[in-house]
Amino acid sequence: MNKQKVYNFSAGPAVLPQEVLEQAQAELLDYRGKGISVMEMSHRSADFIDILDRAEESLRSLMGIGDDYYVLFLQGGASSQFSMVPLNMFSRSKKADILDTGNWSKKAISEASRYGDIRVLASSSDKNYNYIPSVENLNFDPEADYVHITTNNTIFGTCIPSIPDTGNIPLVADMSSDILSREYDVNNFGLIYAGAQKNIGPAGLTLVIVRKELVGKEMEQTPLMLKYSTHAEKGSAYNTPPCFAIYMAGLVFDWTIKQGGVVEMEKRNRAKAQLLYDFLDASELFEANVRGIDRSLMNVPFRSKDAELDAKFIAEADKAGLKTLKGYRTVGGMRASIYNPMPLEGVDALVEFMREFEQKNA
Ligand SMILES: *Cc1c(COP(=O)(O)O)cnc(C)c1O
Repeated sequence: MNKQKVYNFSAGPAVLPQEVLEQAQAELLDYRGKGISVMEMSHRSADFIDILDRAEESLRSLMGIGDDYYVLFLQGGASSQFSMVPLNMFSRSKKADILDTGNWSKKAISEASRYGDIRVLASSSDKNYNYIPSVENLNFDPEADYVHITTNNTIFGTCIPSIPDTGNIPLVADMSSDILSREYDVNNFGLIYAGAQKNIGPAGLTLVIVRKELVGKEMEQTPLMLKYSTHAEKGSAYNTPPCFAIYMAGLVFDWTIKQGGVVEMEKRNRAKAQLLYDFLDASELFEANVRGIDRSLMNVPFRSKDAELDAKFIAEADKAGLKTLKGYRTVGGMRASIYNPMPLEGVDALVEFMREFEQKNA
């Protein structure tokens, strides 16, 4: 079928590698000669356990995750982690320090506040979250059960430039929109979580990477299904896991390894982001919302002179095959999400389109 070349800049669910979609299509009706689809397999079958084990192994090798961490394949989205984190981590003081860098941090704060004392370490709400507060001189509460950060702020297009050193206090990170896009040292974190639908695979799967010693100390009222220990003890198969999403994530992990791993992804992502930011910084019509070292490599919000022109741009870009460029409701303007599977050619096509649009609408 002849189909228009489309580049999908959606913030999530987001673009997946073409090769992965083709492999899933080829295996959809008959998984590797088994005669059935992965969607139809028992989650207790040897074939599915193998899919699960290999997905975990690939992720461990991609991120350098040691044996002192569990990797959990859960459901409920990153949003469920806003409550699961406090329900599992409030083991002593029921206090937490949270860095407020956008909508998702705010939700982490409000959910955790239901179970304990939350202190907002610092906030960038004064400028509608277009920067990251300095993490250099933060005074962490030595009694805190955890410190929470959002490494990449999907809506506002900021990324934390350096990971704070929290000493003995476990650092928890919402990495939903930049996991696998750049190198992070897992050992700096007590817990990392991410919804899959940005850099990992289809929606329906949520990853949790958690240091083993932090598991099993949950609050008394924590429901069984919301305890990390429930899932850790049963290898993410206490109940039916999101089987097909796990299979897809495994394919994406293997694709990422084949491309050269996270090091190569980061190199490509830096090149893609630079192309876009350089254009925006030189443009007379468009400008990026975020300046300096806080700029995200994954989500690039930008705008033109006025909202009307933004709307025109989004509509015309869509017709040209540059899809889902509308900015988040409260931010306005445009946002290009350029996750791992977005090729440089996609960003090239966007920049070319913007150049022409600028000439016509200057
Ligand atoms: C998308 C996103 C979420 C919410 O994810 P769900 O899986 O929809 O619950 C949370 N945090 C960040 C940083 C996100 O980008």
